Amino acid sequence: MADKKVRVRFAPSPTGGLHLGGVRTVLYNYLFAKQLGGDFIVRIEDTDQTRFVEGAEAYIFKCLEWCGLLPDESPVHGGQYGPYRQSERKVLYKKYAEELVANGYAYYAFDTPEELGKMRNDLKTDENPSPQYDGNVRMKMRNSLTIAAAETDRLLKEGTLHVVRIKMPDHETISFTDMIHQEVSFDSSVVDDKVLLKADGMPTYHLAVVVDDYLMKITHAFRGEEWLSSAPVHILLWKYLFGLENMPQWAHLPLIMGPSGKLSKRDGAKYGFPVFAMNWNDKSKNELTEGFKERGFLPEAFINLLAVLGWNDGTEQEIFSLDELIEKFSIDRVHKAGAKFDFEKAKWFNQEWIKKLGVENYGLRVKEYFISRGIEITDDAYFNKVLELVKDRCILLTDFYEQAGYFFVAASQWDTEAVKPKWTDGKTAFFNEFCGQLNALADWDTSSIETIFKELAATHAIKPGELQLPMRIMLVGGKFGPAVFEIASLIGKEETVARIKKALTIFNA
Ligand code: GLU
Repeated sequence: MADKKVRVRFAPSPTGGLHLGGVRTVLYNYLFAKQLGGDFIVRIEDTDQTRFVEGAEAYIFKCLEWCGLLPDESPVHGGQYGPYRQSERKVLYKKYAEELVANGYAYYAFDTPEELGKMRNDLKTDENPSPQYDGNVRMKMRNSLTIAAAETDRLLKEGTLHVVRIKMPDHETISFTDMIHQEVSFDSSVVDDKVLLKADGMPTYHLAVVVDDYLMKITHAFRGEEWLSSAPVHILLWKYLFGLENMPQWAHLPLIMGPSGKLSKRDGAKYGFPVFAMNWNDKSKNELTEGFKERGFLPEAFINLLAVLGWNDGTEQEIFSLDELIEKFSIDRVHKAGAKFDFEKAKWFNQEWIKKLGVENYGLRVKEYFISRGIEITDDAYFNKVLELVKDRCILLTDFYEQAGYFFVAASQWDTEAVKPKWTDGKTAFFNEFCGQLNALADWDTSSIETIFKELAATHAIKPGELQLPMRIMLVGGKFGPAVFEIASLIGKEETVARIKKALTIFNA
């Protein structure tokens, strides 16, 4: 029999910003599927209506687009296994919940919020501060296991609010092989009787994930390790509903750790680094959280740094393109232990990618930063030359403005402190004469400018090294930037001469 086509899914709940851990889950799914010629599906898990956030779904797709990780199937991209939004699949789940009840694997529970509150209050002890609805408790509650069948029927007919709960078996060992954690076992008694179908008729995550993975023919389910403790419920549902046939292979991905435990949005705010892929605007709190994109990251770098947070190819290689990752990724090399996120290292990846890529890949984004700061870019060829010249000095895309702003707008402040202590009349004379020679220069290029500079310095008996720093400060304003003759050559004759003259008046004031 031919191998089944690989089908993986990313199943976000559209409730807020897309955490970098979420993007790494997408990435590992995507790499695995693409390597094996499979499909990558995005399913929107929006069954919790109380957590619905306007705009969150569209935002997720924008993030995926920015990362270049496009789904083959999704509510936006379509596909044969839709709808891909769980809220639009509501009618599907009920029959599975009823089947579970009919077969004795689940039951109707009519407990009111007050009754549940009372149970928790009554059973609360120091050892058990939050009692669960489980095998110890269920027979004391108001559900179809404790009330007569006729009464249950009557309550259901009358439309009494109720939920469907799984009946967790007593001390059954539930085992499965995880692609990362290998053999995993749970004692069924430690898991509570989770709600499968809510009073509003919507499934909970536990029921929906199993039904949808089945109906969508998912072959491998990669998700964050925080879901490992729910796995026994999912495995039981697979067993009860589908006899475990075609159950996906599970892979619970290591957590991404921050400075103190699991990396959280709060860590980002506290330590000043982004945690979301792109800016997320929480309208309910009127709170904007910065994303990697807006911080000045390249998608190539973002993907690369996420890929190696928990995986390596067994060599020292750290820089990988998406195509290389598709070729080299292997789930066997994903680590079990949590991966520590280091923002300095993240920036290093970005710097490497800025150097590696031609500026045509990111020039447009850099241009936006310039425009937003009031600098008009009229000559794209010039703009690209400038970026090429300074790119090795930039760590984030936002650094280009500071590194290259003077190519577009002359400095209005000069680091005179760096010049004045060693400033002499002889230097003024040198620069005045230099301006005259520059004006007469026929070939305006780096080496011609450098040649006349050095020859004239010799005539004036001043070491060229002593003149280069002042010249840099004249053209740039500060002690930074690429080779000074390159700068002069790019900004042009008129501008170079004008800047030298202007600075001379400042230095001699
Ligand atoms: N909706 C879950 C989440 O937000 C999906 C977990 C899974 O992939 O099974 O992470």
